Amino acid sequence: MEERPISMTSSRSLLFKSPPIQNESLVGYLIRIAELNRYPRMSWIGNLAGVNLTEETLSKMSNRLGRLAKVVGASDAEMKSLCYYVSAKGNNLHVILSMGEIIPKQYLYWPSQRVCFSCLREKGFVSGLWDLKAVTHCPEHGELLRDACPACKEPVTFNRGRIAPCLPGCQYRGHGSECPDSVRALMQLISNKFLGTKFDLTEFGFPKQVVDGDLYTLLQTISFLAMRSWRGEGDIDHGWLEVRPETMIEKMDHASGALVNWPSGYFKFLDDVCAGKGAPNGAIVMHWMFGGFYKSLVSRQKELGFLFDGLQDYMNRRLKDRILTGRGCPSVLKKRDRRIYVPGFIARKQLGVGRQEFKRLVDRHYLQSKPFDTSYGKMICVHRDSVREYAETRSRFVGRKELAEELGLSLHSLYSLSTGSILNPFHSPEKDGWQKWWYDRKAVDEWLDGLRENAKRPPKGKRTIQLSRAVAKYNHMGLTYSKLFNAINHGALRLYRRRLDTENLLEYYSLDEAQLSKWYLARG
Ligand SMILES: [Zn+2]
Ligand SMILES: [Zn+2]
Repeated sequence: MEERPISMTSSRSLLFKSPPIQNESLVGYLIRIAELNRYPRMSWIGNLAGVNLTEETLSKMSNRLGRLAKVVGASDAEMKSLCYYVSAKGNNLHVILSMGEIIPKQYLYWPSQRVCFSCLREKGFVSGLWDLKAVTHCPEHGELLRDACPACKEPVTFNRGRIAPCLPGCQYRGHGSECPDSVRALMQLISNKFLGTKFDLTEFGFPKQVVDGDLYTLLQTISFLAMRSWRGEGDIDHGWLEVRPETMIEKMDHASGALVNWPSGYFKFLDDVCAGKGAPNGAIVMHWMFGGFYKSLVSRQKELGFLFDGLQDYMNRRLKDRILTGRGCPSVLKKRDRRIYVPGFIARKQLGVGRQEFKRLVDRHYLQSKPFDTSYGKMICVHRDSVREYAETRSRFVGRKELAEELGLSLHSLYSLSTGSILNPFHSPEKDGWQKWWYDRKAVDEWLDGLRENAKRPPKGKRTIQLSRAVAKYNHMGLTYSKLFNAINHGALRLYRRRLDTENLLEYYSLDEAQLSKWYLARG
């Protein structure tokens, strides 16, 4: 670096001057100049220029650059190149980056007190990149940015007079790489966008959208992936307001893992988001977070469309033939039919049954079920085929009163058909504890069809008696429909049909009166 001792033409000019180094931060530059001129603090430079550097706000700083430039002997253009951000006019919440891009201020610490000690020692400068909150490690060294020297413990203060804050005699020169390759690669990607560096990142396979996109898109992507507690309506930038450096390390590890080797890194990330414990056979049990993640991503399809598309791919490939459970998620998933199990609450909704009834259906094995452990307790899931099958049966249900009227039977007669196993209800208090009697119309029709097939037209002159009359005639001697049909089924009585009606009602059936009388007397 060039040093330019110059004659003191102005009392407000410095003895030693040095042009800014590429990618140097404004504060870092002033610290370097202070060190060069043996000033104990960077703020002394500001004093010469009449700029209070310890209290100046970011927005006012851009107006004072000219005065600072004069004092340090740099050109206005050189000073401006150090200013990676100035406040957007009339907007204190956003800053304009040197390339014209506007980002919310909460993505920055200003000024950052975190440094790469390797950079300080090797290059003697403070990088402007370190002001970004998302930058946790030096893109070049992979070293953790620290706010104190790990050897001498001296803190990195903003208003210092030496590039390296260390106490005299401290030999600390930096750690070298302290992060996974994926994190360093992400730092390099941010650097490429913020500083215009040209790190080659092809081997890391970042998604095209963040490679080609602007810095803000990248920061929003990182923000979304790093938050890990998604809210559908939340502001994607908001999370950075309260972020602390110590929690950022883990966040960047998650985010970088999701972005490298697209989309396989993202799929692993999603596995982690969806991960539930205790599901058999590699089934994926939705973590409660997944619902929030999905909804949140849906509301940001515009900005983060590629994350949404990636999620769709994930669901299509990863979750095929697997089991999904989870509150709030399956109802919003598109590929319903790919899943073989559905959570109980979904099945209840589909069937229109309450909790008690659903439990009975499961307990009585009308629905094929499996329990799964999820992060919010044990959850019953049911096989979707069994739900569909039961739903079909349910749509054919006919109550006993309605059926009795249709068949022309009393409730008691209908009941006797079930006790004699002639015509069985699908549900009944006796069969399975149901409160009501329900018959499956399909079973009723099949029974009637069977009767019609067996029934012959009576030969001419044969005296026949209607079924209902027959029962009425011998009822006082204990004859029931049930007994009659048993006899018919065993061939002891022949069933006749009065006419070839299209309707299938019991009143069209009759018996041979003589045969009945003989059969009944024989029974004694
Ligand atoms: Zn470094
Ligand atoms: Zn030290």
